[in-house]
Amino acid sequence: MSIAILSREKYIAKISELEGSSKAVATAKAEQMPAFAYRDQTYYLEPYYENIEEFLAAVTHEGSHVRDYLDELDWVDKGFSKAEIKNKIGSYWDEEKKAYEREHDFRKETGVPLQFSSKKSIDIHVEKSYENY
Ligand SMILES: [Zn+2]
Repeated sequence: MSIAILSREKYIAKISELEGSSKAVATAKAEQMPAFAYRDQTYYLEPYYENIEEFLAAVTHEGSHVRDYLDELDWVDKGFSKAEIKNKIGSYWDEEKKAYEREHDFRKETGVPLQFSSKKSIDIHVEKSYENY
């Protein structure tokens, strides 16, 4: 996994490059998403994180997405079918819930302020905020 901490300008340019979107669309997306994972790389908007604890919580979340990506590559190598892999990984909601739960556990263990009061509230957040596929 690699970690890139980018200035606002470079962060927006990276979103635009990876999604093939306009600068305006990428700028709007950056406002909603201060970190993201793409394959085995993770990107963080530099001025967003005010302290190392919040940054590490974000790394835990994005690292979960990288873990899913690496597991998927491993399962492809081992000959699992697309359907079998989808069954193991679950839906996009499942991936997001897992990432938020890992972040939540990290926050609880290290005393970083929680974003959610419970895992149930994580489920509600994911189901309201993300498309499922
Ligand atoms: Zn996520």
